[in-house]
Amino acid sequence: MRIVADTDLCIGAGQCVLTDPAVFDQDDDGTVVVLVEHPEGGQVDSAREAVKLCPAMALSLQE
Ligand code: SF4
Repeated sequence: MRIVADTDLCIGAGQCVLTDPAVFDQDDDGTVVVLVEHPEGGQVDSAREAVKLCPAMALSLQE
C-alpha cells in the first residue's frame, strides 16, 4: 500500500496529522507531508481513516 497526497488539493485542514502524527505532517504552509509512504500494521488503519476524514479529498491509497 502507498499513500498518495495531492498537495494541490490539500487545504491544510490538518485532519490527517490529527489522525496519526507519525504518518502525516504539515509543512510551513500547512500542506500535508507524508512521513510514511508505505504504511504497515496499525498505520494502515490510520491511513484509511485519514483518507476518509480529509475534507479536500487530497489523500488516496494505492493498494
Ligand atoms: S486532512 Fe487533507 S486537507 Fe487537511 S492537511 Fe491533511 S491532506 Fe491536507
